[in-house]
Amino acid sequence: MSQIPVVERILGANEDLAAQNRRLLEAHGVHGINIMAAPGGGKTTLILRTIQALQGRRKIAVIEGDIASTIDADKVRAVGVPAVQINTGGNCHLDAVQVQKALAELPLEDVDLLFIENVGNLICPVAFDLGEHTRVALTSIPEGDDKPHKYPGIFAAVDALVVTKTDLLPWVPFNLAEFRRLVRGLNPDIRLFEVSCVSGAGLDEWVQWLMELTVRK
Ligand code: MG
Ligand code: ZN
Repeated sequence: MSQIPVVERILGANEDLAAQNRRLLEAHGVHGINIMAAPGGGKTTLILRTIQALQGRRKIAVIEGDIASTIDADKVRAVGVPAVQINTGGNCHLDAVQVQKALAELPLEDVDLLFIENVGNLICPVAFDLGEHTRVALTSIPEGDDKPHKYPGIFAAVDALVVTKTDLLPWVPFNLAEFRRLVRGLNPDIRLFEVSCVSGAGLDEWVQWLMELTVRK
């Protein structure tokens, strides 16, 4: 036991709890999606727009991860969707224990799709399985098109990537063709979406994909 490095033991314990979370979600017919991005990448805005688009079609709940504050959970509750805020108190990612506690506070029997909004960070969230079924990363246009070079791990680890704030493309240097090429080089099977939550461009395709992933109870 003591021969196993501490980091491996922590990740091993996390994986056991994540498997429990996944079983709990599946027992209730809930599809969990872990949303990861840098701070300001547009995670909460995309979740709010998606809630609007799926109104009457899928029942959604949200777990919000932030170092501090309940701002994001308050925004989700304000549109009538159950939300639990996790404050990590300084930790830069969510882990399966925190999510397990949050799941106990949600009406899972009345949820089809659970968004877990991770702490804004492109590095360690990918190392922690939360019990989700699908992993999604966001890159916003103002962050620049070099992120796949700098943070290859997250681009390689996710099922889908949503490029957000595409309405800013006329104003910000961002080579979308090169960006797509880099991302597909790291992850040939990735689903790519390009959306603007301001104009609504590209949202239909994203919402259609979520409809295919989830089942209405
Ligand atoms: Mg947020
Ligand atoms: Zn971290």
